Amino acid sequence: MARKPTIIIIINGGLLYIGAIILSLAIGWWIYREPALRIELPIMSPVSGRKVVLDAGHGGIDPGAKSESGLLEKEINLDIALKLKRHLSMAGIYCVMIRETDRDFSDSGAELPTKKKRDLSYRIRTANQSGADIYLGIHANSFPQRIYRGAQTFYAEDDPQSKRLAKAIQAQLAARLGPNRRRPRPGDYRMLNDTQMPGVVIEVGFLSNPEEARNLEDDDYREQVAQAIFHGVVDYFRKSRSGLRERLKGLK
Ligand SMILES: [Zn+2]
Repeated sequence: MARKPTIIIIINGGLLYIGAIILSLAIGWWIYREPALRIELPIMSPVSGRKVVLDAGHGGIDPGAKSESGLLEKEINLDIALKLKRHLSMAGIYCVMIRETDRDFSDSGAELPTKKKRDLSYRIRTANQSGADIYLGIHANSFPQRIYRGAQTFYAEDDPQSKRLAKAIQAQLAARLGPNRRRPRPGDYRMLNDTQMPGVVIEVGFLSNPEEARNLEDDDYREQVAQAIFHGVVDYFRKSRSGLRERLKGLK
C-alpha cells in the first residue's frame, strides 16, 4: 500500500516529461510558422520573397560528366549553385539547396542504378515539399564529339511557364557568356517531369569541348554563369504579374 503514491509520482513525472516535449515542439512549430520572424523584404521588388529550389546535379558517388583534364561535373554544378545562391539571397529570394557539399542521397547498400533512382527521388521529394516557385537544376553537358559547345536550358514539354523561364535564362546566358546560338529546348529529365513547379535544367556548357571546359575551370567564368542565371530568374519573376498579384492579395 505504501508504494502506491510512489508509482503515481513516477507516472506523473513521465506525463510531465511528455507534456514538456509536446509543449516545446508546439513552441518550435509556432516560431517556425510565424511569418514575422522570417526575412521578408518589401513587396516593391517583384522578386523578393520568392522561393527557388537550387539543385546542383550529381554529387558524392556520382561525379557526372568529366573533362579531359579531369574536371568533374559535380564540382562545377555545386560551385555555380553556391554562387547563384549568393546572388538570389541578396535579392531577397529564398533558396532551398538540394546540396551544399559533395554528397548524394542514395542508399549505401544498393546497386548503382538503384542508388541513382533513390538519389533523384529524394531530390524530387525535397523540391515538391519545399513550396518553391521554381526549380533550377544545374548541370554540365558532355558529348562524344568535341566540337559541340554552348550553355543550354531545358524545360518539360507542354509547360508554358517552364518554357518562359527557360527562355529568360537562355537569353541571359547568350548575352553574357559570348556567342551562343542555342535555343531553350524541351528535355526529358525526370527532375522536370516529376517536380510540380515550373522548372528548368541548365546545362552550363560542354565539358567535352576543351575550350569550354577550360572556361568552366575558371572561377570568374563560373561567376558569370551564376550571374547570367540570376538575371534570367529575375527577368522571369518580374514578368510573373499574376504571381505578384497573388502575393499582394495574401498580404491583405
Ligand atoms: Zn549532369
